[in-house]
Amino acid sequence: MRIVMKFGGTAINSADKVIHVANIIKSQKEGNNDVIVVISAMRGMTDELLAMSEDVKKGDKVSITSFLENTTKSHLSVIDMAVKDVKLKNEAKYATTMLLKELKDILGGIVLLTEITPKSLDYIMSFGERLSTPIVSFVLRDLGMAAEHLTGKEAGILTDSNFGEARPLMDTTKLRLVHKIEPLLKANVIPVITGFIGADQHGNITTIGRGGSDYAATIISAGINADEVWLWSDVDGLMTADPKIVRDATVIKEVSFAEAMEMALFGAKYMHPRALEPVIDTKIPVRIRNTFNLQHQGTVISQDLPKESQKIVKSITAIRHTALIDVGGGGGMVGAPGMAAKIFYALAKNKVNIMMISQSPSESSISMVVRKNDLDKAITTLDLNLLGKVVKQVSVNDDVAVVAVVGSGMRGIKGVAARVFNAVAKRNVNVIMIAQGSSELNLAFVVKDSDCEQAVRALHDEFELGKIGLN
Ligand code: ASP
Ligand code: MG
Repeated sequence: MRIVMKFGGTAINSADKVIHVANIIKSQKEGNNDVIVVISAMRGMTDELLAMSEDVKKGDKVSITSFLENTTKSHLSVIDMAVKDVKLKNEAKYATTMLLKELKDILGGIVLLTEITPKSLDYIMSFGERLSTPIVSFVLRDLGMAAEHLTGKEAGILTDSNFGEARPLMDTTKLRLVHKIEPLLKANVIPVITGFIGADQHGNITTIGRGGSDYAATIISAGINADEVWLWSDVDGLMTADPKIVRDATVIKEVSFAEAMEMALFGAKYMHPRALEPVIDTKIPVRIRNTFNLQHQGTVISQDLPKESQKIVKSITAIRHTALIDVGGGGGMVGAPGMAAKIFYALAKNKVNIMMISQSPSESSISMVVRKNDLDKAITTLDLNLLGKVVKQVSVNDDVAVVAVVGSGMRGIKGVAARVFNAVAKRNVNVIMIAQGSSELNLAFVVKDSDCEQAVRALHDEFELGKIGLN
């Protein structure tokens, strides 16, 4: 079998953990599999690099120095404890020191300009993965395996130049990946590749969006025709609900790509919103596994599910602390084509992301949900551009939650909506707004945030998700 295995930042942030991860890789390799490894930055590193770049903009040299000191210490100490062979240890330390020197030079240059372009920000952000990946590779070598570390750029991930959210150009990427990776696999070498980063056609390093290591793993899998992708992190799998809200939440054994997309958007395990795209096209199954619980089989995300599994509601998810905006036009919006277009165009132009929309057939108002940190921008945009013209009033409810029931079991089955709203009503929760896409994979509604947990528990009970006894 050919498996791409991605390890998240929490799986590699100490020497013990890196050794543990290396042993997981080793045992798969010895099981006669082709193994390709993708590595995230150590936990917290990407956030720190981001914070660092803010300090750089302020010209804060002191902060750069202490950041570099801490980063040097944390990475070198992992190497010190994880790599036993002296020659390898020195080689690893040297490689790391060179990278840190490169980072220091860049930061030192930029701090004088007190300005960071999206291009240089991506370059800076790439250091999280570029520092962590070689460490895993050296530990594998220390365990007697042949391994080679590569950046996403070196491996062949070609993207557009949309720094921060770059998209892969899949056709060329595939050709390049095959060209680079196949010979390594033939020679029995384990490629250990940085997640999160690629390069544009001019060779500039790009990043593919926060949480993008999963995405890099699926891009690589599609490129080299892997049989499966395993995303290793510190959770057992996708869950029927947030265990912090529902005590008997369980791990879901299998979901379809379409269901998983809904869950990712609704925050079950944070996944890059496009992470499943490359494997949906190629139908490569994705497994979510826990590095700290090897007995657990995790969740499988795949194209075709057994009949039984297609019949049920799978999870109740919630996005907390969002805001509801109601745009009313008085009589002026009724039967006036282009109203919605004007509203959404203005918001889109100002980069406000809208999570949910609803309009009643009376057409007298349009309701939408946005994240709280977009609220200010949204209201300002509406006030400046539309208020008093097409829009008569804008009202806001600034602490709501979106609750969603997800599962293909709702498709074409009567009475699910009735069960959902009955269950919620029984707990005395008021529903403020409702939306269901016609795919019927997701029924979402809005409640006051303080009612959210009640609603999630009510639905988890109603559909007996604690009992689906999945793993
Ligand atoms: N290190 C990147 C981030 O924190 C990518 C990832 O971890 O998936 O967003
Ligand atoms: Mg991450």
